[in-house]
Amino acid sequence: MKNNLQAASGKKRTFSAHTVLLSGYQVVLTRKKIKHIHLRICPPDGELRLSAPLHISLETIEKFITYKLPWIEKAVDTMQTRKQIAIPNYKDGELHYFLGQPYTLKITEFAGANGIKLHNDFVMEVLTIKTASFEQVEKILFTWYRNELRRLIPDLLTKWEPLVGVYALEWRIKRMKTRWGSCNPAKKRIWLSLELIKRPAACLEYILVHELTHLLEPSHKPHFYSLLTSFMPDWHEADTLLKEFGHKINTRDMQPDIRNRA
Ligand SMILES: [Zn+2]
Repeated sequence: MKNNLQAASGKKRTFSAHTVLLSGYQVVLTRKKIKHIHLRICPPDGELRLSAPLHISLETIEKFITYKLPWIEKAVDTMQTRKQIAIPNYKDGELHYFLGQPYTLKITEFAGANGIKLHNDFVMEVLTIKTASFEQVEKILFTWYRNELRRLIPDLLTKWEPLVGVYALEWRIKRMKTRWGSCNPAKKRIWLSLELIKRPAACLEYILVHELTHLLEPSHKPHFYSLLTSFMPDWHEADTLLKEFGHKINTRDMQPDIRNRA
């Protein structure tokens, strides 16, 4: 039925698609009157759709898939990661992170001041004076996030500035979308991304040391990394942790910073 319809309506004769297992992947295969194999990876799950010339053997198609495997794996992985990047609604039951810990959001109408209360059973209660809109809840949460991050930074600076041997004249928190931190070595100023408050504390510490190190060495040349490693030998672990969390939390992959990246 589908065959006939497509054959009658389409310019090219198209045969109905069927799924075959090739090189470990379920591939939706369609035979067409075409000259070359054409492969697409479709959102949201990274489904493989392959169009092949009518008379080409399944063996040849499998060879094609095998040849393309590194690209396929990367593309499917990217697509599945992207799928997990949900845009938050700031509704009851949604997961939000604080210092690496997921909390379930609970919105409570409250006669007092707006705020966030964390409970032992990992509930993050948003106290709001009236039925709050998406924007209001987001604002309450991010104000709290910013205050919490602001509270953590001075102790970390007190710990690390003498170890790195440099002092930041100024530090700021910014809502950065593409990087974890940045700095101005001439003005001895560092910026830290507000997103860091969602990650494990080790990630914040690592980015802070990374940016302090830039006050000594602005580039990402080997000298920078040898300095960083001398201050914080296990920085790779925090770097990995940051990347792992990127897949869990609604942010894309970010760099410590992108300036002068070697
Ligand atoms: Zn850097």
